[in-house]
Amino acid sequence: MILASRNAHKLHEVSAILGHDDITLSPGDLGDPIENDVTFAGNALIKARYVSERTGEAVIADDSGLCVDVLGGAPGVFSARWCGHHGDDEGNLQLLLNQIHDIEDKYRKAKFVCAAVYVAPGEQEIIATGSWSGRLIREPRGHGGFGYDPIFIPDGYEVTAAELTDEEKNSISHRGQAFRALVKELERQVY
Ligand code: IMP
Repeated sequence: MILASRNAHKLHEVSAILGHDDITLSPGDLGDPIENDVTFAGNALIKARYVSERTGEAVIADDSGLCVDVLGGAPGVFSARWCGHHGDDEGNLQLLLNQIHDIEDKYRKAKFVCAAVYVAPGEQEIIATGSWSGRLIREPRGHGGFGYDPIFIPDGYEVTAAELTDEEKNSISHRGQAFRALVKELERQVY
């Protein structure tokens, strides 16, 4: 199965969540779709349909992001390109920290959201979602994960998502929730 993405970190997480090591990233020569929907599910479907239509294969994809309460849910679907450059994790994180630098701790609530989808020729499309709540700290901590993980402390924890082991993160994260729900629904439709 193909994961419609260019993000090796995502492939690593999704492979671990699903317990499969035979998932591949999109073929390099396919180009990229324009992700111009304003919802996570809509953008995940754009990515998966683009790759499935061009390869004729079953494809999974996700679209995810960080929604910050005090910013009215931003960066949301713009999380990957918040600072203006797609995939600049360090630039995105620093811009967000600057934007909320004078916000008191009690107002620094945020959640990661993920929509995972399955698209295959002639089959019904499946969408599943997950959400992971927590709060944002002022200085990055930890070296695991990617993106905004070093400034996100999940509810019920005192460490950042970047200080969790891969197994811990996947067992509770938005992406873990969404892909486990996707598999459940896929199994329900098949059997
Ligand atoms: P996309 O889903 O590839 O369009 O991008 C999602 C963006 O949201 C990433 O580039 C990160 O900035 C952020 N993001 C999504 N999931 C995570 C996560 O698990 N940890 C940290 N950042 C994330």
